[in-house]
Amino acid sequence: MVTFGTATAAPGERDTGRLEVGETRDGSAFGLPVAVVNGVDDGRTLYIQAASDGDELNGVGVIQRTLPKLDPMELSGTILVCGVVNYHAFQVAEHRNPIDDTKMNRAYPGDKTGTSSERIAAATFDAAISADYVLDLHQGSTSRMIDEVRVRCGTRHRLHDECLELAKVFGCGYILDQKGPDGQLARAAPDEGVPTIDPELGGCVGWDEASIQRGVDGVFNVLNYYGFLDGHHDTRPQTRASGFEQYGSPVGGLLDLKPDLGDRVSRGETLFEVTDVFGEPKAEITADSSGVFWRVRRLPQVATGEYVCSVGTNVDTY
Ligand SMILES: [Zn+2]
Repeated sequence: MVTFGTATAAPGERDTGRLEVGETRDGSAFGLPVAVVNGVDDGRTLYIQAASDGDELNGVGVIQRTLPKLDPMELSGTILVCGVVNYHAFQVAEHRNPIDDTKMNRAYPGDKTGTSSERIAAATFDAAISADYVLDLHQGSTSRMIDEVRVRCGTRHRLHDECLELAKVFGCGYILDQKGPDGQLARAAPDEGVPTIDPELGGCVGWDEASIQRGVDGVFNVLNYYGFLDGHHDTRPQTRASGFEQYGSPVGGLLDLKPDLGDRVSRGETLFEVTDVFGEPKAEITADSSGVFWRVRRLPQVATGEYVCSVGTNVDTY
C-alpha cells in the first residue's frame, strides 16, 4: 500500500484524498488535494505538485489532463500528486499565501511548527523527498513567458547533472540553468538527494492550452524515459540559458515592445520603447547582452523602475 494524506492505493490502484495541514480561520480542518497512482509493478516514485504559487494554474491543468490518462495497471512504480499546494492563495487567486504574505517557493524545506506557508511546505516536502524525481509545476505568473524548465540547484551541486537530465527529458525546448534563491523546492530537494526541476509553463491569467499541453507531454516524457511506462522517449537538444537579465523602464509611459517571446536578440538591439500618453517617444532601451527574449509584462503601462522584460543570456544548446 502507498499512502499520501488520506489517499491510499494498493498495487494496481489509484486513490485521491486530502493532505491535512491545519485549520482555516473558522476552525475548519483543511487539506491539500492529493492523489496516489500505485503501479501494478514495482519501480521508482515520481512526485508532482502544482499551484505552489496560487495564481499559477497551468500546472493544475497539467494534472487534470494527465491523471485520467494514467492506468495503474500499466504503470511501474508510483506517482504522488499534490494538485494545489498554496491552498489559501488558490482560494483567492493570488500568488502569495494571504495568511502570512509569503511566497511558497521561498519556504522550503518548511517547518512543521512554523508559519502557514512553512507548514504546507514541510508537509509537501516530506512527499517530495520520499520520491526519486520531483516536478514542481510553475509558470511565469501572470506575465507572458516562454515554456521552459528551471534547474535551480546550481552548476556545482552534486545533483546538477541529474537535475539537468530531468529538465532535458521534460523537453519544453528551453532550460534556465541558474542557481535559484533560498527556499525553492528545486533547491531544497536536491540537497536531500532528489533530482528536482521547476517547469515554467508559459505565463497567463487562467489557463493557456498550449502551455498545458507542453506540460502534459513533459510528464509523459518523464514517465516513458525513466521506465514508469513502457513507452519510449528520445531527448532532443534544448536551448539553455545560464544567465537571466531583467529590464525595467527608466521612465513612465506606454510600452512598445520590439521582439516576440522566443526571439533571439543581439547586444545593442532595441528591446522596447516608451512613449508618453500622446505618442511622443521618451526612451529606447537596448539589450545589454545577446540572448533569448524570455519573459515580458502583460500590461503596456509602466512607471519609472517598473519591470518590463527579461532576456535569457549565456545561451547554448544542451
Ligand atoms: Zn511559480
